[in-house]
Amino acid sequence: MHCPICNHPESRVVDTRVSPDGTSIRRRRECDRCGYRFSTSEIVELLNLVVIKRDGSHELYSRDKMERGLRRALEKRPHTDADFRGLVNGVELDIQRLNSTEVKSSDLGTIVMDRLKAFDKVAYIRFASVYRSFEDVKTFQAELDRLMASGRVPTSKQKKTTRRSRKKASR
Ligand SMILES: [Zn+2]
Repeated sequence: MHCPICNHPESRVVDTRVSPDGTSIRRRRECDRCGYRFSTSEIVELLNLVVIKRDGSHELYSRDKMERGLRRALEKRPHTDADFRGLVNGVELDIQRLNSTEVKSSDLGTIVMDRLKAFDKVAYIRFASVYRSFEDVKTFQAELDRLMASGRVPTSKQKKTTRRSRKKASR
């Protein structure tokens, strides 16, 4: 860090303070040449990413929002908090591996889907039906057919219908 007064590149740390939560460090420095004192700080940076939406608008990546999407897909599906944290971390690791400061919302969706597919097939289908319905109906239908054929997706809608029709019948 160069001295803001004389631009000398070397300075001496005279004081170091770590914030109570441990996520930032502030250093008081003294310029080796002119003796000017200034401060520098280091903070832990969360995933800093711009998401480009389908309509072309930009928004900052939000872990909360990503987690909400995952929770919706996983509603009433068996998983522990630790499993969920692992899933979130896995998604963010994949995002980091893109090594980019921008990501298309569709690519983000693909990352989440790939992780969900390995985590819970039903949650994957729920999530995919939201993301893929816009652009890739045929691929999605093929994937759904494949999963249904393997007997892994319970047909909850059909069960409900049956129950309702039974009630009607008994009246
Ligand atoms: Zn200086």
